[in-house]
Parts: sequence; C-alpha cells; structure tokens
Amino acid sequence: MNLAQQIEQYLPQQVLELVKTTSKQAEKQGGKVYLVGGVVRDLLLGYPNFDLDLVVEGDAVKLAQQIAGISQAKLVVHPRFGTAKLSYGNFTLDVATARSESYAKSGALPTVAPGTLNTDLSRRDFSINAMAISLAPNNYGELVDPYQGKSDLEQHLIRILHPKSFNDDATRILRAIRYEQRLGFRLETQTARLLKRDIPKLDTISGDRMRHELELIFREKHPEHAIKRLGELGVLQRLSPSFKGNGWIAEKFDRARCLNKPNQLPSLYFCLLIYPLSERENEQFLRHLNIPKKLSRVLHDTLHLEARLSPLGKSYMKVSEVYYLLHEYDPLAIQANAIASESSTIQSHLQLFLTKLRYVKIFLNGEELKRLGISTGPEMGKVLQTLHKAKLDGEVKTKGDEEKLALSVRAIKEED
Ligand code: ATP
Ligand code: MG
Repeated sequence: MNLAQQIEQYLPQQVLELVKTTSKQAEKQGGKVYLVGGVVRDLLLGYPNFDLDLVVEGDAVKLAQQIAGISQAKLVVHPRFGTAKLSYGNFTLDVATARSESYAKSGALPTVAPGTLNTDLSRRDFSINAMAISLAPNNYGELVDPYQGKSDLEQHLIRILHPKSFNDDATRILRAIRYEQRLGFRLETQTARLLKRDIPKLDTISGDRMRHELELIFREKHPEHAIKRLGELGVLQRLSPSFKGNGWIAEKFDRARCLNKPNQLPSLYFCLLIYPLSERENEQFLRHLNIPKKLSRVLHDTLHLEARLSPLGKSYMKVSEVYYLLHEYDPLAIQANAIASESSTIQSHLQLFLTKLRYVKIFLNGEELKRLGISTGPEMGKVLQTLHKAKLDGEVKTKGDEEKLALSVRAIKEED
C-alpha cells in the first residue's frame, strides 16, 4: 500500500520538505529513513500529530546534525540514547537509529543494539504503533506493516506483538489502556487475557517509569476514562491499595477542567487521584514514584488540608479566620480540596480564599509603621497582623483607618 498522497496532505509543506531533505541526505550516505509509530497510526486515522518519529537505518545523530546545518530546524542531541530532536515551529522530529532490544529480566530496561527497521518495529508495544512509512526516494510512501496494524486500526483493536510483551515491560499495561480509552478501541481477546495475567509484573517497574506513564495519562483529553478502567482492572490498586478508579474521579476530573487552566491540570489530577489515600499511604506512594519535590509538597498539603476542612463547613466564619486556616497551604492543594469537597460551604470558603483573600494587602509598610513609632521586631509583626486581619474583616478600609488602628494598638500596649 502506498501512502505518498496522504503524507502530502497530512504534513504542512515546510515540514514535508524537512522530512524529504532528511531522507535524501540519508540516501547519500547509504541510509534509509522511515516515519514510524504514533504519526503513522494518526495519519491513517486522520488525527493530527505534531511529534513525528523518524527511524534511520544509519547514524541518526550525524544525520540530524547535518539537517540542522542546512535547514532552519533547531537541534537537541541526546548522546546517551543515540537520538536527536529537530524542532520546527509546532513540530518536532525525533530521529533515532533503528535498534533491536532484548530483555534480560522483566521490568528492567532492555539491552539495546543497532538494528534494522524490522527489528525496530518488533520491539514496539502494539500493532497499531508498529507501522512505518518509507521516505526513501525509491519507494516513498510505502507502508511497512509486519503485524497487521492497519487491519487492527480498522477493527479498533489494541494488540500486543507477542505473548511475553507485558511480562517484558509492564508499563505497556498502562499504555494499552491509555490508547484503548483515547481511541475508543478495545483490547484484543488474547491481549486482554495476558494483560490481566501480568498485572503483578507492575511491581518490577521502577517508580520513575511508572510516574512517566501516569503523566502521559494525565496529558490525555479525558484521563478519567483510563483511570476508571485501570481501577476496574485492579491496576491502580497494585500501586496503592486504597486507590479508586470510580465515578467519583470522573466527576472531579471534569470539574477540574471546568475550573482551571490547562497547565495546572496534570498536578490537580494527581491531587484528586491520591485523595482517597491516608497520609501514610500517600507518603509511600510519593516515595515509590519518586515524585519531584514541588508536586510532592502539593500532594502532601492536599491530604493535610483534607483532614482539617471541617471548621470551614460552618456557614458563619470571620473572613480572617478563613484566611489564617488556609494561608500556609499551596494554592493548588486548596483548589484540589475545593473540587473534591462535597460541602458547598467548604467549597465557597476555599474559592473565596483563592480568588480574593490571598491577594488582600494592607496599605502601610514597615517604614511607615516605624514613622508612627512602632518598633521593628515582634511588636511590628503583631501590628501588621492586626491590620491585615482588620482589613480582611472589613474593619479598616483606607490608609487613614490603618494608621488609626496601628496607633491604637500601640496605645493599648503603652497602657499595659
Ligand atoms: P502518543 O500519541 O501517545 O505520543 P506515540 O505512539 O507517539 O503516541 P510515544 O509514547 O511517544 O507514543 O512513543 C513512541 C513510540 O515508541 C510508540 O509508538 C511505540 O511504538 C514506542 N514505545 C513507547 N513506549 C514503548 C514501550 N514501553 N514498549 C514498546 N514500545 C514503546
Ligand atoms: Mg509520541
């Protein structure tokens, strides 16, 4: 099957030229270049894809360096992996030497050696991701499909390439569900059976790799679908026994999307995922997944606050009380609790803090208070807090009000 016409329509002109230049340059050195993986799948499905993977039978890094020299693409080389990334506008071209992989033991990273296109396709996860399109001038557009990926695309099936696939690399369990849910496909029967059998193999996967796969799920348009399915299969519970992939998550993820900017979503999804855990289970999970410090703090804060939400359920609270209950928590942890809590009073107190209270500032600064005769140190701290509370509670409004209050606090102190 030849897809030359489809490629011409699928890629913008300048990206197409870059890809063709790469292929011609490789040919001069006796190498061949192919489009592989996700982009082939998405081209056949008619979905957009901006991250093109190119496999070279030849030296990928050298080729990418030459292309960067004669085009406007920007180059980043990863010498450790023998790969290079060319960026052009919104598009990236990941250029890698064709390789073969073997697994010494399940879960470990594979042993890698240079290979051919066929060995490179044989190490991949699913038939729909194991197709290539030749870019070589003599058979430009030819589809290479050794595992009937095109037929599986048409039948909406996720199929592994061999029975040991999940055993070799259990991250493929999460990947299978991610594609199944993204594309609205289903697991081929044998694949489904082996996936369930190999769930215990998830224990062989490093925390870093597990975290990466969860991050990929959280970048999906509707990650709750994959999370729910992973919950039903018992995959989530393998990561921490109290995880739940139920309707609750679906509703909360949806709310998170309505209320927040896209760049905050992955962290918020993490917060909502760990919400059913105890603080202890959470600490274990964070350590196992080697969660970076900043996110770790947000997740920790989320559960710490969850355990202390009940005073915020009172319908009458002084505004300053709301502020001082919340001001030390990370705003994302507060947002996560606003989404997760079932009480509308708690929700509105949390939203009040996030949208208004945290920005409330007094007019007077330390210098001005000194001029009013207030000494630096604990006295100054106390006056500043009194002024801030009064401002939050609407007891002072103008700078003049603040000066009056500052002086009266001082006068009281002098009487003491
Ligand atoms: P996406 O649209 O999600 O980016 P993709 O197919 O580009 O899909 P990547 O995670 O970017 O997926 O990986 C690129 C390719 O590398 C995949 O198409 C797949 O063939 C291969 N791959 C990635 N991870 C694995 C794995 N754990 N085992 C086997 N092959 C993998
Ligand atoms: Mg990709």
